[in-house]
Amino acid sequence: MTKNMISKNVILRFSPEVVGEPIVYLLVKEFDLVPNIIKASVNPDKQGYILLSLTGEEENYKASLKRLEELGISVQCLMERIKWHEEICTQCGACTAVCPSLALSIRRPEMAIRFDSDKCVACQMCIQACPVNAVTLDL
Ligand code: SF4
Ligand code: SF4
Repeated sequence: MTKNMISKNVILRFSPEVVGEPIVYLLVKEFDLVPNIIKASVNPDKQGYILLSLTGEEENYKASLKRLEELGISVQCLMERIKWHEEICTQCGACTAVCPSLALSIRRPEMAIRFDSDKCVACQMCIQACPVNAVTLDL
């Protein structure tokens, strides 16, 4: 049977009681996932988060989410946190040139920018490209 490999950017949020859990070790050892930490804020006295990409088999990925939730860690797909602010956008098109998944594209014939959040892979290239901060990552 062919295994479906995926790569997802996710945010793990956890309470102070869970800060000591070896989360990354668990993802590697129990679920054979390859975690790549993009950003983290872990304070023993406060709620923390880890922003990371997870690569591996889809079934293992899904099982790991269940396990993390059992530990009291909330998991959110980063794609859901990328926001395009139409009211700020100047329609310059710079983001469409760098978006690898066509989540940001130019709608024709109107030549208007369109954001399809279902296609977004949360690479954040558009955030760097946008001159007016019309795309944000809301953590
Ligand atoms: S985060 Fe990446 S995939 Fe998502 S809209 Fe921006 S450039 Fe496209
Ligand atoms: S780069 Fe920014 S201003 Fe330009 S089209 Fe994209 S979102 Fe709009």
